[in-house]
Amino acid sequence: MTNSTEQATKGQGGLTRAALFGLCPCCAAHTLWDAPAGFAPSCRSCALVFADYEPRGRGLYIVLLPLTFLLAAGALKLDDAVRPPLWLMLGLMVAVVPGVIIGVLRLTKAALLIARLRAEGVLA
Ligand SMILES: [Zn+2]
Repeated sequence: MTNSTEQATKGQGGLTRAALFGLCPCCAAHTLWDAPAGFAPSCRSCALVFADYEPRGRGLYIVLLPLTFLLAAGALKLDDAVRPPLWLMLGLMVAVVPGVIIGVLRLTKAALLIARLRAEGVLA
């Protein structure tokens, strides 16, 4: 395995662990998420301040707007193809939309956190 392949694999594993399991990128403690898609102010184990690296505001629109369009288009396509009852469609949307949005926000925020930590030399 080449060095660049190791780096790519190592980064993806860290991103997945940070986004899905809330592991701190520095010490791997379960301290990253304080809200469904919000960082804790800092790591309780290694004192890394997550709040300094958290993307906020309009920067996340570049992810949320296309995602909203895709979710709406998927709902319309599903309704057109299957014609489920309204109560089932509403229930499905209430269950699926928040989960997808929170999952994508977690992946995006974890990727930005790791990239910013690497840019500042905090992570190797
Ligand atoms: Zn930590």
